[in-house]
Order: sequence, then structure tokens, then C-alpha cells
Amino acid sequence: MAPVPNGFLNVSREVDLRSDTVTKPTAEMRTAMANAEVDDDVLGADPTVSKLQQQMAKIFGKEAGLFVPSGTMGNLIAVLVHCEVRGSEVIVGSESHIHHYEQGGISTLGGVHSRTVPNQEDGTMDLHKLEEAIRHVYDIHYPVTRLICLENTQARCGGRCITAEYTDKVGELAKSYGVKLHIDGARIFNASTALGVPPETLVRAADTVSVCLSKGLAAPVGTVLVGSNEFIEKARRLRKALGGGMRQVGVLGAAGLLALDMVGRLGEDHRNARLLAEGLNAIDGLSVDLANLDTNIVMVDVDHGLGAEELHKALKEHGVLCLYEGHNRIRVVTHYQITEDDVHYALACFQITFKKVFKGDCTTIHLLTSFFFLHFYSH
Ligand SMILES: *Cc1c(COP(=O)(O)O)cnc(C)c1O
Repeated sequence: MAPVPNGFLNVSREVDLRSDTVTKPTAEMRTAMANAEVDDDVLGADPTVSKLQQQMAKIFGKEAGLFVPSGTMGNLIAVLVHCEVRGSEVIVGSESHIHHYEQGGISTLGGVHSRTVPNQEDGTMDLHKLEEAIRHVYDIHYPVTRLICLENTQARCGGRCITAEYTDKVGELAKSYGVKLHIDGARIFNASTALGVPPETLVRAADTVSVCLSKGLAAPVGTVLVGSNEFIEKARRLRKALGGGMRQVGVLGAAGLLALDMVGRLGEDHRNARLLAEGLNAIDGLSVDLANLDTNIVMVDVDHGLGAEELHKALKEHGVLCLYEGHNRIRVVTHYQITEDDVHYALACFQITFKKVFKGDCTTIHLLTSFFFLHFYSH
């Protein structure tokens, strides 16, 4: 059996499945950015970003909004404002972005203590465990719980949607203990699309929400934090101290306003993710839990002792980029730059690469099928 010829897959095509953060601004966004009406927003005068902030507040049923440079800063500001009293504690999911990927900034910059509750497979936290974690009894040994954070969609659990019913229950629980609720809604529009529930309903129990414009919505920069007028006033003050007060920010706001038009097409990303997941699951040695696929994030388990890192590297050589998630897992994410045709192409690459890296040999029929797909889809 002849080996797969080296270079056969080295067509110039690139299929970037690392994240929906890789999305580049659309041509319309670039035009709108160039023509945006701007003024000094630190003085509160930029009309374009003000429009975006108002629009986002309206979509989420809150009083006001604030544009911040990143989702990380949005979460940081939310936690620090809700936990402004020294000695406060926040409850976060064990798989949350705040816990894993924000450098522990709430602690290093804000002095806020965090307590984790395990995220279940569906992205939620068990309500009893959540209630047990709230420190409501006055005890000299304890910090005081002042905030619970949810994440919707829950990224590390595989882009799982958190329902309005569950969020309402957490909201009631929080309220009964005088604790606030913040939602890291980096991909809340994906949840809203997949559940068929308006964003406002998904966050009605929350005091504050941070929403990314730079993920699947394709804006180059930006998150909008929404909440009450009082909260946003404090947030604006803190944003300045963190160096996030931006002057003619309407240039970014203009792209953000157009990003809202991208919400309507997120369902396409979810359909492509399912197509990709089903194709990957059909490859011997790869598995995707199809029952746990809600949106655009696909977690792929590589059924080999070593596996994921080699596969990830080999795919990269052929222009298919994904994220190595450690051990036997890689992550692929669909977004507006990924077409159905890209999905077929990526699947063909996966098929051939997986065999080449792990099997060393391939059966003729498998190879012929893969080559056919590759040839067919690499134009
Ligand atoms: C991307 C993301 C953020 C924010 O990340 P930034 O890189 O700071 O914009 C926050 N939460 C979740 C769940 C995310 O996926």
C-alpha cells in the first residue's frame, strides 16, 4: 500500500476552525468604520457608540449599556462593581471563562475571592450545590458571597445553551440571599438562536450581562456590558481606571452596530457545526457527543493514547486550523467565514490526516473515498 503522498493536501486553502474570534470585519463594517460619526467618548460625546450602547440595553431589557474593549474587561468590571465591598466572594462555574481564561484578574486586580461550583455536562451548576456554596451565615471565618456568575453559552462544556427557566431559578436563589447575578453572555446570541428564545428573556433574571460583538458577530473589537443606570455609572468609572476609556470609539461602535445584523445568520453556523460533528463522528477513532452539541462549538475526542496534539499539528500543515484542548481533545468552531463546502473539505483532511498519523496504513477504499472528497472540494 503506497503511503499518502506528502504535499497532496498542501493546497493553499485555509479553513480556520480555531474559534469564532478569528472572524474578520465584513466589507460593510470597514466602510461604516471609515465613515463613522465620532466624538470624545471619555467626555460621553461619541454618538455612534452611544447608539450601540442604547441598542444593546434595549435588546437585553436593561436600562443602560457600556462599550468595553474585551469580554475579559466586561467580566472584570462586572465582578468588581458587584463585589466592591472588601472581603466579597463570587461564585463561578468550574469550567467558566472567568475561572480559566481571565488570569484570575478578579483576584489580582480586584481582591475578590472566587468559589467554584462544578459545571455539569449541560453547562449548568447543580442548584443545591449552588445554594450550599452561598455564604450567607455571618461567620468571622467566611468571606461574604455577593455575586453568582453564569455563562451562556457555556464554552468549555461545548457551547451549551443555558435556558431561561434555569437562569430564572438561579436568579430567584440569588435574590433570596441578597446576591447579584451576572451573565457572561459572550455567545448569548448563539444561545438565543439555538433555543429560539429572545435574548431579553434569557437574561431577565440577571442584574448584568456582558455580550461579545467580536465572536460570531464578526466585529473586530468589543463587548457591551448592560445593566441598571446605577451599575453602568460605576462601570464607566472603573473602565476609566482600567485604561478602557476610549476617545473616538465610534469607529469601533460602527462595526458593533452592524454586528447586530449578523445575529440572524448564526443558525447557519450551528447547522455547519452539526454537519462537521456528524462527519467527524463517522471517522473511526474520533468521537463527538452529538447529543451535547447545541451551537457552534464542537469538542472532538481522539480515541488514542497520544492523539490530539499530533492530529492538530498534522491538520495545520494542511491549512485546517483547530484548537488543541489538551489530552485527547481538540476543539473546532464554525463561524461566518466557514461555508458548508469548507466543512466537507475539512472532513476530508481530517479523514486522511487521521489515518496517516495514527494508522500508518490505509485501506484502498478509505483512501480512494478521501481523495475523491478532497479533489472534489479543494477547488
Ligand atoms: C471570548 C469569551 C470571553 C471574552 O474574551 P475576550 O478575549 O476578553 O474578548 C468571555 N467569556 C467567554 C465565555 C468567552 O468565550
